[in-house]
Amino acid sequence: MNNPTVARAPVSEWLSQLPSVDKILLLDRAQEWLEEYGRDEVLRVTRSTLSLLRQALVEQKRVTAPELETLLDEIAATLKTRATPNLRRVLNLTGTVLHTNLGRAVMPPEVIEAMASAAAEPCALEYDLGQGKRGDRDELVEELLCELTGAEAATVVNNNAAAVFLLLNALSNRKETIVSRGELIEIGGAFRIPDIMKRAGAKLVEVGTTNRTHAKDFVEVIGVKTALLMKVHTSNYVVQGFTAEVPEVELAKIAHQHQLPFVVDLGSGTLLDLARYGLPSEPTPRQAIEMGADLVTFSCDKLLGGPQAGILVGRRALIQKIKKNPLKRVLRVGKVTLAGLEAVLRLYRNPDTLPQRLSVLQLLTRPQADMQAQAERLLPRIQNAITQCGLLLSTHPVKSQIGSGSLPVERLPSVALAIEPTTRLTEKNVLRLERLLRASATAIVGRISDKMLLLDLRCLTQDKEEIFVTALLAAASQVVSVR
Ligand SMILES: *Cc1c(COP(=O)(O)O)cnc(C)c1O
Repeated sequence: MNNPTVARAPVSEWLSQLPSVDKILLLDRAQEWLEEYGRDEVLRVTRSTLSLLRQALVEQKRVTAPELETLLDEIAATLKTRATPNLRRVLNLTGTVLHTNLGRAVMPPEVIEAMASAAAEPCALEYDLGQGKRGDRDELVEELLCELTGAEAATVVNNNAAAVFLLLNALSNRKETIVSRGELIEIGGAFRIPDIMKRAGAKLVEVGTTNRTHAKDFVEVIGVKTALLMKVHTSNYVVQGFTAEVPEVELAKIAHQHQLPFVVDLGSGTLLDLARYGLPSEPTPRQAIEMGADLVTFSCDKLLGGPQAGILVGRRALIQKIKKNPLKRVLRVGKVTLAGLEAVLRLYRNPDTLPQRLSVLQLLTRPQADMQAQAERLLPRIQNAITQCGLLLSTHPVKSQIGSGSLPVERLPSVALAIEPTTRLTEKNVLRLERLLRASATAIVGRISDKMLLLDLRCLTQDKEEIFVTALLAAASQVVSVR
C-alpha cells in the first residue's frame, strides 16, 4: 500500500507535462501580461506559480497537473492581485463614523485638492516668499489655529499622542506631572497615559481615587519637583455614579497660584460646540483656554475632520519652549498634512456652511429620514439576491457611534440594512456573505450582531450607492454558488 515507487512514477509524469516558463511567455495571453506588468514581474509570477505547483505535486498535495488554461488563469489572477494596492478602499457600514481601523475622518474635496497639489508640486513649506528666506512650517496654520481657539501660539505634530509626548518631554522631563487617577486612560493601540509619561521622562503623580478627586488632593502633592497639572479628557469612557472631579477653572487657579502651567489633553478637538448642529456637546480648545488652560492638545482626524495630526495651542512662551525641543523635529508633520490641515481649518471660518462642507459633520448630522429613504431605495434592488441566499433582508433602526473615543456614550439614530438567516441552516450564509463583502474590490465592512449582518447606511453617501449594489449582488451570487 505504502510503496513509494508506485506513487513516484505518476508524479514525475505530471511534472514533465508542466509547460516551461519560456513556452508560457510565447503564448498570446502572456503578451498582454508583458505589456501590462512588465517582463520582470511576469517572469517572477510565472516561475513562482510553476514552482509551487511542482512542490504540490511532489508532496502529493495535488495529484494531477492542471490544464494549461487553468494554469494561465492562476498566473493571471496572481498578477492581478499583486497589482492591487494593499491599502484597499472600504465602504464603512460599521456604524462607527470615525473608525480608527478604517482611517478615521474622510475629508472634503477642497481639502483633498490642497493635499494633492502639495504632493504634486513644490510649495512654500518653510520658505518666506516675501523675504526670500527660510520660514517656519507651523506658520502656515498658526494664525488660523489662534483665531479658532483663542490661543496665543500653536504648533503641529504627527498626532495627538505625539503632542502629549512632546509636551511632557519639553516641560516635565525628570519632573512631576500631577493627574487625577480617574483620568489615567488607555486608548486603543497602546496609548496609555502612564506609559507615555514614563517614556517622555515625566514622573506621574496620581491623585484622588478612580471615581473622586478633589482640589486638596492636587494641592497636597505640589512640591519643588512639580512641573505640570494635567487634565486628560476621558474620551472613551465615562465614570458615573458617586463621582467628583475638579473643574478646569479650579485646577487652573491652583496651578497658577504655584506658578505652574495647567495643561489639557482634549483628545478629540472639535473647534466648535457641536450642540449648534444638534449633536452632543464636546469640550472645545477655546473653552479649555477660557477656563485657564495654558496648553491644550487635540487630534486633527477625529471630530475636527482633517488629516492625521496633533495640535498644541496655548501660551507663546510654552509653545516656544516646546518648539525648541529636538523631539519637535522628530515628530513634525509633512507638507501634505499641513496642506490638508490648512484647508480644513479654513472651513471653520464659516460655521454656517460647515455641515454641508465638512464631510465628518455631514455624516454625523445626516437625518435618519434620509437613511430610511436610502434603505427603501436599495431594498428592492438587492431583495432577490438576498432571498436566493436563503436570507431575509429588512431595514432596521440602529444607533451609530461617533467613534475614536469621541462622545463615548452618545449614539446617533441611524438605519441599517439587516440580513438575517431564515433557518439554522442558512446561518453560515450570513457569515459567508459578510466575508465575501469584505473581499470585494471596494471592501464592504458591516457588523455582525445577534447572527444578523447589519449594514449601517450612515456613511453610504449617494455617490457610492452603485458600487454598493454591484458589490452586494456579486457577493450574494457567490454565496449561492459555493453552497
Ligand atoms: C485620541 C486621543 C489621543 C490620541 O490621539 P491620536 O491623534 O490618535 O494620537 C490622546 N488622548 C486622548 C484623550 C484621545 O482621545
